[in-house]
Amino acid sequence: MLAAVALAGTVRPDASPSTTPVATDASLAGVDWSAVGGETVEFLSRLLQARSINPPGDEALAIDVVVEKLRAEGIDSEVIEFAPGRGSLVARLAGNGQDKPLCLLSHVDVVPAEAERWSVDPYSGLVRDGFVWGRGALDMKGMTAVEVMTLVTLKRLAVPLRRDVVLLAVADEEVDGQGIDAVIAQWDKIGCSHVVNEGGLGLSDLIFDGQTFHAISVAEKGAVWLKMIASGAPGHGSTPVPGRAPEHLARALQRLAAREDVVVWSDAHLETFRRAGRAGGGLKGLILSSPALTKLLARNSLLSMPPMRATLTNTVNVTGFFGGEQPNVVPSEVGAVLDCRILPGFMPEDIVRELIALVDDPAVRFEVISASTGNESPWDDPFFNALAARAVEGQEGAVAGPVRSPGYTDSKALRPLGARAYGYVPFVIDGELLGTMHGDDERVPVAEVQAGLRRLAAAVLDVSLARPDGPMGSPRGEAPR
Ligand SMILES: [Zn+2]
Repeated sequence: MLAAVALAGTVRPDASPSTTPVATDASLAGVDWSAVGGETVEFLSRLLQARSINPPGDEALAIDVVVEKLRAEGIDSEVIEFAPGRGSLVARLAGNGQDKPLCLLSHVDVVPAEAERWSVDPYSGLVRDGFVWGRGALDMKGMTAVEVMTLVTLKRLAVPLRRDVVLLAVADEEVDGQGIDAVIAQWDKIGCSHVVNEGGLGLSDLIFDGQTFHAISVAEKGAVWLKMIASGAPGHGSTPVPGRAPEHLARALQRLAAREDVVVWSDAHLETFRRAGRAGGGLKGLILSSPALTKLLARNSLLSMPPMRATLTNTVNVTGFFGGEQPNVVPSEVGAVLDCRILPGFMPEDIVRELIALVDDPAVRFEVISASTGNESPWDDPFFNALAARAVEGQEGAVAGPVRSPGYTDSKALRPLGARAYGYVPFVIDGELLGTMHGDDERVPVAEVQAGLRRLAAAVLDVSLARPDGPMGSPRGEAPR
């Protein structure tokens, strides 16, 4: 905790400073974390039993579980439906309006599971061997459960808040994003200044063995999906003739494979390496704690880690092929599908222009399937600092820092609307568990569900508790309505 607090960025004059962590701790002092943690695990189990598998979605199954939990606590919610049985839930705990609302965002749809490959029924919500098992335990019903219970805990405490705390449990994140679109259509009523969502989490042994690194995502890349199409005269398969479409495609693919990495260092990366390096110590720590030495000496080893490389460079990934159905026919067109990801600050046309120059063949053209840009939130922010400080609280040597995500989440749609969005699922897991997201035997440690609730509830209260001198700010204030 000390490291993160000491390294926290300066607060901008336009950003509301937090109330003191001491005030938060005093408010939370009466919470029985073991009881409320157990309640969170039980609630998560029920959420995992709801088969909100996308496609087709059926998110109402999970939304109903959330609605029921909130209703039992006297918290109203509204579901914005975009199709029968599919919608996004909005619930609100009212503050005094001094600051703009803070949003607890998650999605309740899950990707399908190959049940026969699992050790347990993926929709059992089983609690066994210290884990809660089920599709969505990490991505991301575990976070939904922690966010719902954060809202419930604040409501039970009846502490005065200086901003609304809004819960958004959305549908269809995994396929088309219709759930967040439905929310955006009503953004004038929601209007959050800050959002916490999926994106990063606490990872053990990420940068240093024995060091837990809490990655808080502040940026997401844009996605540019392309068809790379080669053309030429068609002909008979029996007689090779130079210059046919498949030959052009093969040469273009070779050029893509030889594409060199161009590293785009970001302040977020360098700050993260600096924090991890300082806490990690040794020669590696010395190098990482200096941006100049990192750029000079750590570049190649960082690029050798695929997730790190994906956050440091614009990437081009061949994900499929098309054309040429018949073995004895040379087709006039064949092609490859490319998934390109661009860092914030780059435009889709930048990567297309680069690929045209790299392939350098008039017989090869590019067609855009879809394109979006990346975006980034500042991390010199009170909520970011609160998340970072609460993430590492009580953990010797743990570090929290800003990272860029190689993929994207619903946060990418909210940043252009003025929200500062941070990706942080407050659980500490290892590489093996990380691999269960979208994979087999997805599960979350029971202890982390409980710890995660405490981390998130404290961080939210750090930036939401009414100040003693503000309106309705008396510590004995009435329960927010
Ligand atoms: Zn997700």
